Amino acid sequence: MERLFRGILRFQKMHYRKEEEFFQKISKGQSPDVLFFSCSDSRVDPNLITQSKVGELFIVKNVGNIVPANTPLHKKTCTAAAIEFALLVLKVTDIVVCGHSDCGALKALYYDKKDFEDKPNLKEWLNTASEVKEEVLFQIKDLSYKKKIEMTEKRYLVKQIENLKTYPLVNEAIKAGKINIHGWYYDIGTGAVYTYNERRNVFEKIDHNEEEFMGISGGDPCEDVP
Ligand SMILES: [Zn+2]
Repeated sequence: MERLFRGILRFQKMHYRKEEEFFQKISKGQSPDVLFFSCSDSRVDPNLITQSKVGELFIVKNVGNIVPANTPLHKKTCTAAAIEFALLVLKVTDIVVCGHSDCGALKALYYDKKDFEDKPNLKEWLNTASEVKEEVLFQIKDLSYKKKIEMTEKRYLVKQIENLKTYPLVNEAIKAGKINIHGWYYDIGTGAVYTYNERRNVFEKIDHNEEEFMGISGGDPCEDVP
């Protein structure tokens, strides 16, 4: 903890002091335009990978960046509350679900049942992703462990986009053209971020150049959803 305490002092003396005006401004309220679902993994920092400032992303972090479907079982999750707040109060224009490589939560799907004997809550939470594991195991037999995990991570992202649409608020906002949904995959080792192209069922690397930001969307196709 010593390191964190020193960090607080450093933040106040250097960072805050340099941007005091900005912090005074955001102290009066937030107006992020993106609802961002991310994993609790300590290596995944949404502000860092998007180079956005505090106040720009409304972030929901949970184990495995899981977006449970809107079922009676999950009606009271933080996900549902975050969606209501982000859409009705903050009026965000985009929702990002960001998965990542080497995700411990999705790797845990492949653990033995006995490994969960003392972790009943974790077991129940990860159960929401278990059907994706079954799909992966059913479709692909001869695959390295690393590839199997990557496939699970990406397939689960696609599933989460479907899950998001089970929330009436989200579904209505999409139909009304008020919101866009994005599935992103962050590769920790390379720093690359891939976005899911629903129409083509592929993940495309986000590598737009400045001209594309001026109005031409792009990104080279990277790979099919494995
Ligand atoms: Zn993770």
